[in-house]
Amino acid sequence: MSQPQTHEDSNLDLNWRSDALDLGLDYGMQTIAVRAGQHRTDEGEHSEPIFTTSSYVYKSAADAAAHFDGTKTGNVYSRHTNPSVRTFERRLAALENGERAVATASGMGAILTMCLAYLKAGDHLLAANQLFGSSIGLFDNYMAKFGVEVSYVDCFDNEAWANAVQPNTKVIYCESPSNPLAQICDIGFLSQLSKANDILLVVDNCFATPALQRPLELGADVVIHSATKYLDGQGRVLGGALVGSDKLMQAAFTVVRSGGISMSPFNAWVFTKGLETLKIRMQAHCSNANQVAQFLVNHPNVSTVHFSGLTDHPSHELTKRQHHMKDGYGAIMGFEVKATAELDPKSAAWHVIDATRMVSITNNLGDAKTTITHPATTTHFRLSPEARAEAGVKDSLIRLSVGLEDVEDIIKDLAHGLDSL
Ligand SMILES: *Cc1c(COP(=O)(O)O)cnc(C)c1O
Repeated sequence: MSQPQTHEDSNLDLNWRSDALDLGLDYGMQTIAVRAGQHRTDEGEHSEPIFTTSSYVYKSAADAAAHFDGTKTGNVYSRHTNPSVRTFERRLAALENGERAVATASGMGAILTMCLAYLKAGDHLLAANQLFGSSIGLFDNYMAKFGVEVSYVDCFDNEAWANAVQPNTKVIYCESPSNPLAQICDIGFLSQLSKANDILLVVDNCFATPALQRPLELGADVVIHSATKYLDGQGRVLGGALVGSDKLMQAAFTVVRSGGISMSPFNAWVFTKGLETLKIRMQAHCSNANQVAQFLVNHPNVSTVHFSGLTDHPSHELTKRQHHMKDGYGAIMGFEVKATAELDPKSAAWHVIDATRMVSITNNLGDAKTTITHPATTTHFRLSPEARAEAGVKDSLIRLSVGLEDVEDIIKDLAHGLDSL
């Protein structure tokens, strides 16, 4: 079928707000997580169905025309809208306290959508230097190719952020906590800086999730998610999302629709069900992570633990203010192992990773299964040595995503390699 090319068919999506749970009634976040956004059909199904359809039928030629010229709202094609995707979008928007969410095929799809929607040639993108490796690759290799100027600053250094703002800065981009060192940005400060300079503040909330932190309430304009991580939480499917105001999301929606960066209905359904248990999963993840961090910090063969849950971490107090879950600092941490007479820093890190018997050696994170990885030779391998150094990714660094196994077993598994260094 042909697609509408010319008009701003924003009204195609007007009905996305109609909601089985009346959000005006001031429900708590966990009620929203379980119930918001469901579109119940005439079949009366209790659980959310999966709408595996690429297109939709009309009652007549005139009805079809009305869907295209905007006099009628409704689905026309699943690259644009799909009921299962919409349910996920509504539920996530409600949890992030945003007006609207736009789902994408992956987290990187959401970040690409952000770039295409809010930046053009000649604009400046100011980003934290602590980012998911592919985000840096996208900015440096592709945004730069299309004439967007990109520069980076230490995410926790407010003065550096302020000094790096240029007249053409259009987007400030950060992750908090960051990958892989779990550094914390002062979102309130960045919001003031952005507002004073007419800049959009975009925060990747992948590591915290709305169970811990709602960046829009702290002053961010757009929240980015890799739903692949905690929103699913079981490492099954890829997906992403943007959340923000109706206006900003409409700009993102048209990019997704035109560029085909759309989420599959099946994946949307997995994420929708994932959101129902997000908060209780995050509580368990964080509780395990706090105990693992204590173990690591006390281990003689660990030189540094990067985790803001530790009371002497420079951002401990800031994290407490920004995260609304008590004792919720996230469950991803970096730690550096000490080199030995026989083992250089990389070999020492590999020794600890290879000595695990239960923990998975994989670059995925935010999974029920604990995962361990060596960023310098995997996720951040493609970066230049300079960019890697700037991101703080040393050869001695190990990244751990603490899962939901018994915490004693996670600690025992890490001890195999650490004790035998
Ligand atoms: C994984 C990840 C992404 C990218 O998400 P994908 O779903 O893998 O495309 C972006 N940001 C952060 C912080 C991530 O961990």
